[in-house]
Amino acid sequence: MDSKASGPVNAGNASMVRCTSCGAEFDTHEPKCPYCGTMYEPGAEEHYMNRLSDIREDMEDLSSLALSETGSELKQAVKKTLKTLIIIAAAIAVLLGICRLIDLLRLYVWYF
Ligand SMILES: [Zn+2]
Repeated sequence: MDSKASGPVNAGNASMVRCTSCGAEFDTHEPKCPYCGTMYEPGAEEHYMNRLSDIREDMEDLSSLALSETGSELKQAVKKTLKTLIIIAAAIAVLLGICRLIDLLRLYVWYF
């Protein structure tokens, strides 16, 4: 990766720019030179904005999905997982309690 300080300049062609790092011509829609990776800011910005709107659309899809049955399914899955975790935690607590009790009994037997 080169620094973006040495970015490409417009090569004269309306839709092409020339890379100042390696001299290759590439499309202005490219976020960076496909040959050496030098950042091309206008293309990068366009690319970023496109991705941003894609992400926003995805988020809208997700939120509408979350409101539908997928949301309740997810909630149930979370509830199930929580229940399992609580049961495991309770089992561990009981086991630890028994160990503790045995230790106490041992101490009791030792002292008396
Ligand atoms: Zn280049």
